[in-house]
Amino acid sequence: MRLADRRERLMGEGAFDVLAKVKELEAQGKNIISFAIGEPDFDTPAHIKEAAMEALRRGETHYSPSAGIKQLRESVARYIEKSRGVPVRPEEVVVCPGAKPALFCGVFCCVNEGDEVIYPSPCFPAYESLVRYVGAVPVPLPLKEERAFSFDPRELEALITPKTKMIIINTPQNPTGGVLPSSDLDLIAELAVKHDLWVLADEIYCAIIFDAAFDSILSRPGMKERTILVDGFSKTYAMTGWRLGYAVVREELVAHFSKLLTNSVSCTATFTQWAGIAALEGPQDCVEEMVASYKRRRDMLVDGLNEIPGFKCLKPQGAFYAFANVTGACRSLGLKGAEELQDYLLNEAGVAVLARTCFGNRVPGETEEYVRFCFATSESAIKEGLSRIKKAVS
Ligand code: PLP
Repeated sequence: MRLADRRERLMGEGAFDVLAKVKELEAQGKNIISFAIGEPDFDTPAHIKEAAMEALRRGETHYSPSAGIKQLRESVARYIEKSRGVPVRPEEVVVCPGAKPALFCGVFCCVNEGDEVIYPSPCFPAYESLVRYVGAVPVPLPLKEERAFSFDPRELEALITPKTKMIIINTPQNPTGGVLPSSDLDLIAELAVKHDLWVLADEIYCAIIFDAAFDSILSRPGMKERTILVDGFSKTYAMTGWRLGYAVVREELVAHFSKLLTNSVSCTATFTQWAGIAALEGPQDCVEEMVASYKRRRDMLVDGLNEIPGFKCLKPQGAFYAFANVTGACRSLGLKGAEELQDYLLNEAGVAVLARTCFGNRVPGETEEYVRFCFATSESAIKEGLSRIKKAVS
């Protein structure tokens, strides 16, 4: 086969390998409790589904402009203005089929070959993959457990070079559940302005936050023109399968993002966009109920994990992930690291979790072992999962 070299630069996602293993074990008749997949277990709220069906009945079944229908761009602008406290115009919104294409647009349109891009480690694996794909250099910024999984500001400053073009941030964060403190957002903004950098702010979990109000880098002075804000409907409204997200960027960037969408997907499914309007403009108690439920499950999971010998888990402040330190459990079981623990728990306990390496390579100097639990699953599954893990490691 005569293939293109650049395809080698795209990375896979370890999570999908684990999912394949889970399916294989289930096909053999094994019962698996899965904390692996990162998506809400709730169904999409009924009024959102109804809006999509109504749009279909009305014949909203054709292409839309690449940047999205005007009405959704208006709704998103209103939502971002209200939730981030920054004026946003519909012309600054680009609708995409999911948040992932918005990340792709940001990296593709703003980063050159040879540029350096600073990104958190561990993180959602697409960041490093996209940076490598465009021939840029990914520069990991370690997140620290002792700082509730934010970074050391001195380390960020030290990583900036004349080649740095972009900083990627994600708050609340996947996989740690960490939320960047306001003071860190201030510093990132200061550095971005000083060094003329883009900030790609992945805020897909902004609505799933437990003990604090959400704070966005967009509200910092000078950040409106250099932020690529990415958000969407997958997590907030339990709409992962709908494929609906967006970027909010300065108006001059919109034409570039749109051209990329025109050349790849043409547009986002039109009736899905009408469902998005219903989500943003409709009642929000469905979101409040889901978040309250995630919070109960978080407490149950984290309290339970901290009772298991060799497991140590901080209470995540947002998203639906807990990132447990399992260094002690690996040691007492004689395992080399979290990857072996991931296999051990799957094969011996029938519990699926994801090792730290599903979220990027370890950074030099990293000594601890971690696995990610997604707690967007039922309380009975959490209870059973905890009891299985306890038995398997005791
Ligand atoms: N960003 C982060 C941090 C995520 O965890 C995910 C999905 O897991 C995405 C983006 C992708 O969202 P979407 O499904 O809307 O493309």
